[in-house]
Amino acid sequence: MKTMDTFSFAGKKALIRVDFNVPLNDSLEITDDTRIRAALPTIRKVLSDGGAVILMSHLGRPKNGPENVFSLKHLVNHISGLVNVPVLFSADCVGETAENAATNLKMGEVLLLENLRFHGEETAGDKAFSSQLAKLGDVYVNDAFGTAHRAHASTTVLADFFLENKMFGYLLAQEIESVDKVMKTAEKPVTAVMGGAKVSSKISIISNLLDSVDNIIIGGGMSYTFAKALGGSVGNSLVEDDFIETAKNILAEAKSKGVKIHLPVDTIAGDAFDNNANLKTCATNAIPDGWLGLDIGPDSEREYDAVIQNSKTILWNGPMGVFEMESFQHGTKTIALSIAKATRNGAFSLIGGGDSVAAINKFDLADQVSYVSTGGGALLEYMEGKELPGIKAIRG
Ligand code: AMP
Repeated sequence: MKTMDTFSFAGKKALIRVDFNVPLNDSLEITDDTRIRAALPTIRKVLSDGGAVILMSHLGRPKNGPENVFSLKHLVNHISGLVNVPVLFSADCVGETAENAATNLKMGEVLLLENLRFHGEETAGDKAFSSQLAKLGDVYVNDAFGTAHRAHASTTVLADFFLENKMFGYLLAQEIESVDKVMKTAEKPVTAVMGGAKVSSKISIISNLLDSVDNIIIGGGMSYTFAKALGGSVGNSLVEDDFIETAKNILAEAKSKGVKIHLPVDTIAGDAFDNNANLKTCATNAIPDGWLGLDIGPDSEREYDAVIQNSKTILWNGPMGVFEMESFQHGTKTIALSIAKATRNGAFSLIGGGDSVAAINKFDLADQVSYVSTGGGALLEYMEGKELPGIKAIRG
């Protein structure tokens, strides 16, 4: 398999699938360019080798063809500023416009193609559409982890047209390496911190983790389904009654596999789902009626910190409570600080999945952990043990 480092892009036009699905404000200005910055090492490598770059991405979810609010032309100036060379734009990603732009592209130049999803064939994984894209470049580079779980034209089918010259970009390679460091080659003890709202959305990941981790720390809304499964009273907390049996099975399976599941012994409960609610600290299995568990309590924080400090590899997915509200952010913040401390002491920490990334950013700790993943759904599917089509297409 080719890699960015062993390949010379001199004289080559590299067709790079990036994830430039960035947020835009009402004036169509970029409000967070993290995803663009994440692709810069790949772009710079091609240019410094003496190659040319053709960037393709989706933006938003256009329904029926082109829509101004989803046009990638709004990104051109910003990308130019970051890459430090003028960025050319093709108003269509395939057809004559794109082919002319690609043909006229000189080495050292960057061309951005219009939103791939202006063509329904992109998400349909259409072969003819993929072959039109393939005409544009000499080499295919996939650097979009965020869409690696989709078998779309530009993320998967396109690779078939580059049997020899296809590879992962630096970002995608780094994402895979970081997740594999947790899921496949982790230094023990390994601890997964799982939070968020529901058991139902995390169940496959927890099941898969039972084969590779030593500890699973549970927090967030899903704690109460587990607490109820163990016979506790959880008041008006979020509970998925349909998943009580599943929670019991997970606890039994964990026991048989020697994985320690840590449930929060105490809870910060509110008398309403509201930042200004009255608060009470209580045992997680004895929450009074009319009260809801909205954060882990101080004893849980201490226990979880001890487990984390004793770990060599840490995966964190999902907040410990309703961290968006100040009254219920303490548990999530404490865990974030605890992971940062363990990282300083030599542990490898991976933060992934939308809300834990939002939390680590909110507490300004992103640079104090080992790796913050850019992939939401893709990361979750990878952690569930699924083979992602975008990864398989390159690896073969
Ligand atoms: P997820 O997307 O499953 O990771 O869930 C993240 C969401 O879970 C966040 O918006 C949190 O506010 C929410 N959450 C965390 N703890 C609780 C809780 N105890 N009760 C209700 N929602 C929660």
